[in-house]
Amino acid sequence: MKLGVLKEDAADERRVAATPETVKKFIALGAEVAVEAGAGANASISDGDYSDAGASVGSRADTLRNADVVLAVQGPDPAALAAANKGAWVAAILNPFGDRARVDAYAAAGVEALAMEFMPRITRAQSMDVLSSQSNLAGYKAVLDAAANFGRAFPMMMTAAGTIPATRVFVMGVGVAGLQAIATARRLGAIVSATDVRSATREQIESLGAKAIFVEEVKGIEGEGAGGYATEMSEEYRAKQAELVSGHIAKQDIVITTALIPGRPAPRLISDAQLATMRAGSVIVDLAVEQGGNVEGAVAGEIAERHGVAIVGYRNVPSRLAADASALYARNLYNFLSAFWDKEAGKVVLPDDDEIVKGVRLTQGGKVINERLLA
Ligand code: NAD
Repeated sequence: MKLGVLKEDAADERRVAATPETVKKFIALGAEVAVEAGAGANASISDGDYSDAGASVGSRADTLRNADVVLAVQGPDPAALAAANKGAWVAAILNPFGDRARVDAYAAAGVEALAMEFMPRITRAQSMDVLSSQSNLAGYKAVLDAAANFGRAFPMMMTAAGTIPATRVFVMGVGVAGLQAIATARRLGAIVSATDVRSATREQIESLGAKAIFVEEVKGIEGEGAGGYATEMSEEYRAKQAELVSGHIAKQDIVITTALIPGRPAPRLISDAQLATMRAGSVIVDLAVEQGGNVEGAVAGEIAERHGVAIVGYRNVPSRLAADASALYARNLYNFLSAFWDKEAGKVVLPDDDEIVKGVRLTQGGKVINERLLA
């Protein structure tokens, strides 16, 4: 079985889908690995590191020739995959809802597309969950990006020239990214508060030493929610949430927003009027900016300025920590494929009736077959 690892084409994508560690592990299983030259350059991995690990390093054509599985971070151009084997798999973060046309093109090209972000949230698949591995790093980096754009220090400092007060950080959306943002802001010495619509997060917020700020008058989502995911909230809930945010946000220096709803635009959590109540020099980091943004006025790929407040809208935040993000992503891919390694066949076999396979497989036999896309 030949695995081909592509150099990413997308602008600002610094990650790579395999590391020397996972190359060695794939080879130990019995696979052959080809890596496109320069694939790891932006993640501090040289071509020599890959060849030392046992991979062949060459052109894109060499990498794809006779490949059974193509590994990438973002979905490669379907036309570029023609050199791979007929029915080859492509395992990557495919943005199936946002880029449906490309999924259709994979089907038309006879490629079997495996969307890593559709990994079901079951215990068995935890080590394969790319959303978790990448969001965790994004949550950490969001706090550093806030600090870098903030003209004040985070911790309280008592100096001979007087005291600097601790920064107040408010985290909105306490999933994987939000939890890491809370932990990171706390480590930097900030006073942290956080909110979510899922009631299970209250205890998680408090266990990290932050203050939980919740809508009390209207019921949110009980417990974890389905698969840990939120849904759109009622009009009544949203009105109460807006009131809550209005009362809280004026006293905050930094706001990190991470709220997402799978398959939907990100919920709007901060309006321009609310933003205007913040003190000049405050910083908001909107991690949901590429899904439409949680903050009015956020612009993907830019730092927007409104009412003296900086709204940081960096794209692809995990890629800003390319070495670690690649290491974790590559392990997610290895954990997924190796779980289905068939010793006798000497290759990965994906059973049609497996929950994980049904979750991630988008196309097969020239058709789009994934339930979430057909629904
Ligand atoms: P996500 O990225 O989809 O959303 C981020 C957060 O935003 C979520 O906590 C969500 O509840 C919140 N949110 C959505 N709408 C909101 C609104 N209007 N106002 C405020 N907050 C809003 O979520 P995620 O980080 O991918 O994961 C969420 C949870 O899933 C995790 O906390 C975890 O418990 C669970 N999880 C389980 C597994 C598993 O394998 N069992 C793996 C990963 C995560």
